[in-house]
Amino acid sequence: MRVIGTIGDLVGDRDTWAGRGRVGFVPTMGYLHEGHVSLVRRARAENDVVVVSIFVNPTQFGPREDLSRYPRDLPRDLALLEAAGADIIFTPQADEIYPQGFATYVDPVGPLTLRLEAASRPGHFRGVATVVTKLFNLARPDRAYFGQKDAQQVAVIRRMVADLNIPVELRILSTVREPDGLAMSSRNSYLGPEDRAAATVLSRALRAGAEAFDTRPAEGPEAVRQAMVRIVTEEPRAALDYADVCDPDTFEPLAELRAPALLAIAARVGPARLIDNVPLRSDGTWDLGISLAEATRREK
Ligand code: AMP
Repeated sequence: MRVIGTIGDLVGDRDTWAGRGRVGFVPTMGYLHEGHVSLVRRARAENDVVVVSIFVNPTQFGPREDLSRYPRDLPRDLALLEAAGADIIFTPQADEIYPQGFATYVDPVGPLTLRLEAASRPGHFRGVATVVTKLFNLARPDRAYFGQKDAQQVAVIRRMVADLNIPVELRILSTVREPDGLAMSSRNSYLGPEDRAAATVLSRALRAGAEAFDTRPAEGPEAVRQAMVRIVTEEPRAALDYADVCDPDTFEPLAELRAPALLAIAARVGPARLIDNVPLRSDGTWDLGISLAEATRREK
């Protein structure tokens, strides 16, 4: 495994590994957990070379967000990546990616950038689209791996790859969860024990929404939404940002209940802003993603 900090070294090295065959790429912000590792393992299984980036991208954080306190632990990340079989780890500093005079952004527009995460975090997807484009140009992957956990990010990147004719195949993997249902996230490290217990409210609300979808479809999307809202309202440590029933590609609200659909939720629990979602498939089935135990079993 090689750890590379500069664009010069990455580009210089690229010729040696690009000739080895298919390149799989996993972009991350570090402080890795089993969700990230599931992407790296899948990339390892499907490609000849596995490139992982660790970069806390400043342009996707708002001025009042958690950029300065975002958790970091490079030695631990590198040990996990080595064990998962990654080949190249790209760990640039911010001024390497955004040098003096940087002035060009990829700015998604349209319905995907109006609601939910886009509305709560203005400029977030512009930062994501810009850094992902730059990382694609640097790593030149055949396949790139993203988590369903960040469903709207997936939709934005899908749209961007199609609109800008970026020659990469996107692979989207299920959300890996803690045994109690909490979606794994680097931001879970902000939670003290009581907030950690309360944080299951997101997956509990999604389950309640999906069950309302199953059992009371005639009542429409608002009843599903209300089933989610009710669970969050009952948890005093949580403050709901949004609960939504939307189209999984455009993220526009559903006028009538139908599948495929996406149930999406964001809430603040203590010091952390957490997001989660559950896709309702076109055959009407849903699951809350795979648990850690299941993820580990599938690897074997
Ligand atoms: P991040 O480091 O938070 O930017 O995440 C890097 C990648 O890992 C993104 O594609 C995320 O969607 C994905 N990811 C984060 N959490 C999970 C999870 N619990 N399960 C699966 N993928 C995840």
